[in-house]
Amino acid sequence: MEPADPSRQSALLSADARLLWHPYSSMTDPAPVRLVDSADGVRLHFADGSSAIDAMSSWWCMIHGYRNPVLDAALRDQVDRMSHVMFGGLTHAPAINLAERLVSITPDALQHVFFCDSGSVSIEVAVKLALQYQAARGRRSRTRLLTVRGGYHGDTFTPMSVCDPVTGMHSMFAGALREQVFAPRPPAGFDRAPDDPELLAWMGATEDLAARHTDEVAAIVVEPILQGAGGMYPYSPACLAFLRDVADRHGFLLILDEIATGFGRTGTLFAAEHAGVVPDVMCLGKALTGGYLSLAAVLCTSEVAYAVSSGPGRALMHGPTFMANPLACAVALASLNLLLAQDWASTVAGISAGLSRGLAPARDLPGVKDVRVLGAVGVVQLEAPADVPALTAAALRRGVWLRPFLDLVYTMPPYICTDAEIATIGEAVVGAVEEVVA
Ligand SMILES: *Cc1c(COP(=O)(O)O)cnc(C)c1O
Repeated sequence: MEPADPSRQSALLSADARLLWHPYSSMTDPAPVRLVDSADGVRLHFADGSSAIDAMSSWWCMIHGYRNPVLDAALRDQVDRMSHVMFGGLTHAPAINLAERLVSITPDALQHVFFCDSGSVSIEVAVKLALQYQAARGRRSRTRLLTVRGGYHGDTFTPMSVCDPVTGMHSMFAGALREQVFAPRPPAGFDRAPDDPELLAWMGATEDLAARHTDEVAAIVVEPILQGAGGMYPYSPACLAFLRDVADRHGFLLILDEIATGFGRTGTLFAAEHAGVVPDVMCLGKALTGGYLSLAAVLCTSEVAYAVSSGPGRALMHGPTFMANPLACAVALASLNLLLAQDWASTVAGISAGLSRGLAPARDLPGVKDVRVLGAVGVVQLEAPADVPALTAAALRRGVWLRPFLDLVYTMPPYICTDAEIATIGEAVVGAVEEVVA
């Protein structure tokens, strides 16, 4: 590809540094950013003429790759009809068809869908559902949330309040954040025997906490099976099943945040399937649109929906401007159809095997604490916080885009990666860690 004019590139980058906030960024000491010119398939093409495999799927969204012809066509068709209409008093086929598809692929009990703009907002909506549900049941004192440590649910205030109190932003916003009820983190590891002592101790502590706060708690909110931005941390399906049981016994709703785990990422279509658990409310986002546009969905049971609709206000009190945006719904439906028309489970299992093979050599490197793979998620955990700029540069020299965080160098590759591309990602992760950390 033709590299862009270098003076034009540096003009853009200096304007970026002057004008733009990036995620968690400083305006006085901005971290380096790289100029992307275009992307296709699994590759990002940088303005300097170089390219790299996107091992992050653009923060876990771009499962079918960039410029996917099917998704591009769906978007173009929808542009030719309408890009947006308000959802108050109006409706459209893209929203209806997507809702039908989502209801058909999620557990039978989930029957109603609210579309909003982003994952964080979907958590806000899920919490409103829970508070309005409890109020409709005459339990107005139940306004707090119970969660486990180590979670991540987004950056607006309600999601922030249930993020991990240490790695989240609780101390920074202390006083402004609702104080929620935190159970210990479930013991690490997907595979644990049912009588594992750590598992039983965790269950005991969680039950005690739930019992102490029964009258205050409206809902349990957790990421099922794999905590994402809180640490790429898998836990046993038995813990999720236990949380379902706690919720039932104490009259809490169970809200499952499948924003990161949905659409096959952990090896099942939704992560809660590992535990056979059905939530009362489920949040979907990220890969929902194949990474094309911001869209999230909140699904709930009829019990919840009918209670909310008969309670104070007699309606779910939320309604964003871009609710059920037709472009986002159309591309989401195309993405879902594309995923479900293929043997995605074998694809994810193949990526899983490739990542297990590719990352295994990292186990022997100094400075590495753990190597783990679940579904199409591969993680190398370091003994110290990751040097993000150095690791990013080292991976790019090996043709791969990574974005480490905390003490984690990890990948969530697009599902369209070939075996060779998965091997390249593995080599880049191991090579970067060897070069920078060891
Ligand atoms: C990314 C994420 C969110 C927040 O979604 P946004 O679209 O960034 O607001 C919430 N929960 C989980 C588990 C996530 O991974």
